[in-house]
Amino acid sequence: MKSQVALVKIHPQAIGSTVLEAVRESVDLIGGIENFCHKDNEVLIKPNISTLDSFQCTNPLVTRAVAKIFSEYHCTVLIGEDPSIPIKENIAYREYGLYELAKKANAKVVSLRYGPHTRVEVPGGGYFSEIEVSSIAQEADLVVSVATMKSANITTVTLGLKNLKGLVRPSWKRKFHCEGLNQGIVDLNAAIRPGLTVIDATLGKDLSASPRVSYPVGLIIASGDPVAADSVCARVMGFNPEKIEHIRLAKEKGLGVLGLENIEIRGEKIENWTGRFPFSPPKDPFKLAEKSGGRIRIIQGNPCSVCLNELGQSLASQEDHLHAFRDVTILVGPEAKPCLSSGYTILFGKCLKKHKDKGIYVAGCPPHEYEPLKIDSLKKVLAKILEKRG
Ligand code: SF4
Repeated sequence: MKSQVALVKIHPQAIGSTVLEAVRESVDLIGGIENFCHKDNEVLIKPNISTLDSFQCTNPLVTRAVAKIFSEYHCTVLIGEDPSIPIKENIAYREYGLYELAKKANAKVVSLRYGPHTRVEVPGGGYFSEIEVSSIAQEADLVVSVATMKSANITTVTLGLKNLKGLVRPSWKRKFHCEGLNQGIVDLNAAIRPGLTVIDATLGKDLSASPRVSYPVGLIIASGDPVAADSVCARVMGFNPEKIEHIRLAKEKGLGVLGLENIEIRGEKIENWTGRFPFSPPKDPFKLAEKSGGRIRIIQGNPCSVCLNELGQSLASQEDHLHAFRDVTILVGPEAKPCLSSGYTILFGKCLKKHKDKGIYVAGCPPHEYEPLKIDSLKKVLAKILEKRG
């Protein structure tokens, strides 16, 4: 049987009941709510509230709509997230308006950071044989990944599969980044299978663009198959899902399908939406460093994903000149240790302030290339190094 994916058109700036009706329609198109849970079930809604920057988060109206349709169905609805490590969970919740939103949807806010975590086995093994995951997610009858459409420098896209990363114990999130993000995402989704994925594509956020930009896409995407949901969304963004490592690996692990021949799309026709918006290709900092032929080295020590994203953006600013650098070492992440070097050592991010006297310190958590007051963004530091060499 084919996996079903709903594509429902919505005004990119729709509000209130319009959003609720679009989300309801998307779930109805794939069999209705009773296809995913029973009355009285406990449902965990996992939106993307990874940063304080509303640009990067799931549209709160979509989160509220998903919560509301489950609470109206007499489920116990929990909503939670664990934002990026430097951000305090309660501040992220407050900025997002989560407490008010949950009240209106008759849902309860839970802490995925401070709530209990227990080890869960990865079925069939993977890169990780077990992962420490929120017990709330493990105990819920249904986990709903409520992602937003956005591009990313390391994984090309951040959609439903990657959104589950907020369920992992914070110390494990960093393991993912150091030891294998793509395979980690797949192992996590194998361990905690999201029963439903809803992707807020009201606005599509292109974080790989410089400067970043949002497109008025105007879609709600929903599926019980997380791989199918992400692969359809990736196609709308103009990417080939076969070339996105974590989506391809998820398919290979048997978590869902990605070929259109195995997907039944309900609602809008995908051909009317594919590639309509010019999302940018990823700027992977490690690939860019590799391209420098060893002239730029990155030493990572458990960095946050937001930092790697920014690092990619800054290195991409010198993409045509990577061979002109010599002996540049960039440290990123709180556990990165400076080593003796005759060249330039760059300490990227506030958590490396402690080594400030050992190199060129780039402030920020994460350092943003756009912050007008930040005189020494990495982009500027790299430009200055090149200038000196010239
Ligand atoms: S500077 Fe970067 S790696 Fe360090 S804590 Fe902040 S976001 Fe994380």
